[in-house]
Amino acid sequence: MARYTDSVCKLCRREKQKLFLKGQKCFTDKCPIESRNFPPGQHGSSRRAKISEYGVQLREKQKIKRSYGLLETQFRNYFEHANKQKGITGDNLVKILESRLDNVVYRLGFASSRKQARQLIRHRHLMVNEHIVDIPSYLLSAGDIIKIREKSKKMDSIHGSLKRVKDSTYSWLQIDKATLAGTFLQVPERADVPLNANEQLVIELYSK
Ligand code: SF4
Repeated sequence: MARYTDSVCKLCRREKQKLFLKGQKCFTDKCPIESRNFPPGQHGSSRRAKISEYGVQLREKQKIKRSYGLLETQFRNYFEHANKQKGITGDNLVKILESRLDNVVYRLGFASSRKQARQLIRHRHLMVNEHIVDIPSYLLSAGDIIKIREKSKKMDSIHGSLKRVKDSTYSWLQIDKATLAGTFLQVPERADVPLNANEQLVIELYSK
């Protein structure tokens, strides 16, 4: 499977905003966006070219896709799925992305990035409704309970990451830090999701 191997901070700098791809570093002043918030490359700080309508739409798509750590085909498939559902396609798209297990593990605070969440899941440290699930793209339903497996409860990375999240950070999630368990109470409304992006521009891009 194709994999992005260059510095992920360059992706944030390309989008000129934090995408929270690197774990704990993203929450410190060592984050390059704090000191170098301009696109990477030799002319990054001086580039002033006017961006076309297509360019604006493309950047918005890249921003969302990269925030959730997806490849083009996966992201496109989610769009097609969202487009077939009733309601607003952009809202549907964000709701699907937010229902992914890797995203929820990250939001619950068990991992400090979605990438780290994917690793935890693939290494079988997680259970959903008492069953081991090792598929990061697994889509959760309202009421699903996500737990760290008994044998994995002492992992330093999990406890270090949990400090970042308050119990009430996300209204659609319930976190029990004592038992390292969380409940996906419901699929969140778009307005509640802290995603600084305009998904409508993605719809326009894919509708061309
Ligand atoms: Fe790097 Fe994280 Fe800052 Fe993005 S938010 S530039 S990944 S440290």
